[in-house]
Amino acid sequence: MVAGWMPATGTGKDSLPGRPVNIILMIGDGMGVSHLSVPYYYLDREPVFNRFRSIGLAGTSSATHPVTQSSAAATALSTGVKTYNTAVGVGPDSLARKNIVEIASARGYQTGVISTSSITDATPAGFYAHVTDRYMQREIALDLLESEIDFFAGGGLKYFIDTTGRDLFREYGVTVNFAKLQKIEPQDPARRYGFLLAMDRMPAMLEGRGGFLADASGVATDFLSRSDSGFFLMVEGSQIDWAGHGNNADYMISEMIDFENTVKRVLEYAERDGNTLVIVTADHETGGFTLAAAGDYQTGTDYGTIVPAFSTTNHSASLVPVLAFGPGADLFAGIYENTELFSKMMSLIDSGF
Ligand code: MG
Ligand code: ZN
Repeated sequence: MVAGWMPATGTGKDSLPGRPVNIILMIGDGMGVSHLSVPYYYLDREPVFNRFRSIGLAGTSSATHPVTQSSAAATALSTGVKTYNTAVGVGPDSLARKNIVEIASARGYQTGVISTSSITDATPAGFYAHVTDRYMQREIALDLLESEIDFFAGGGLKYFIDTTGRDLFREYGVTVNFAKLQKIEPQDPARRYGFLLAMDRMPAMLEGRGGFLADASGVATDFLSRSDSGFFLMVEGSQIDWAGHGNNADYMISEMIDFENTVKRVLEYAERDGNTLVIVTADHETGGFTLAAAGDYQTGTDYGTIVPAFSTTNHSASLVPVLAFGPGADLFAGIYENTELFSKMMSLIDSGF
């Protein structure tokens, strides 16, 4: 290949060597290394994490605090800029920073976000919104409609309801399904498609959410891969974090198992496709979670029994895992700051269009 050669527009989905056509970023909100260990003890098959060959750790501090919030962490991943804790898509100066969805869209990529929280919650919002505070959810909802996002799935319908009777989805040309997740039929002409399946957050696994996250990921990859260009998709397991805040081990384990299941579904897609990079990481750790041996070290340890234990109801400053699979995965080995995840992804975003 000639140095500097770039494929012409419309040559289809052939990637340059070592470069993916599609990038799927999977974020376990609050998922530290102990959380990642959960399927190794609470799942009756080999965890899909074993199929990743490129492993790293990322630092998560924000511009202002050693312990980040999800908003600043999402902004670091999506824009490469560390910011103050409650910022979404804006820098320390409160000015908007370009995010990966905007950059990829401008280069012809299809884009999507999926979450088990409200789709306007801090993590997904970091990939399309620019607001000075994560709790400006109405503004975040409007930013989603105005963004380049082609596909979204999650909760949060209430933030899109207009009291003056305007149908915002119609105004912005977004087809939204409020009833149930289903395959988007190939003949459906919708350019932008969303599923909003709860007024606020999605139910917890313990409340019967079922296979939503994995199924939505399947619907998304099917929909986003229809165009000639590549796609960028962010998939969030949101409630791992909430279970950590609540120090609720059963809740956390069920959310972790659901996230692992979703990673498995996405990895199977990537293995079939051959041109998709999958990155699994977290925005920060929540709960100071450990899989501790039972008993007491002074009076007698029971090494045969695991007691899930939390040390805080807050986030922690621990490094978080990074797993990568597919073309470009080698870049993600090592120990680095969360902002480098952005620059590593950007170096793989096709600039040939
Ligand atoms: Mg989140
Ligand atoms: Zn949290």
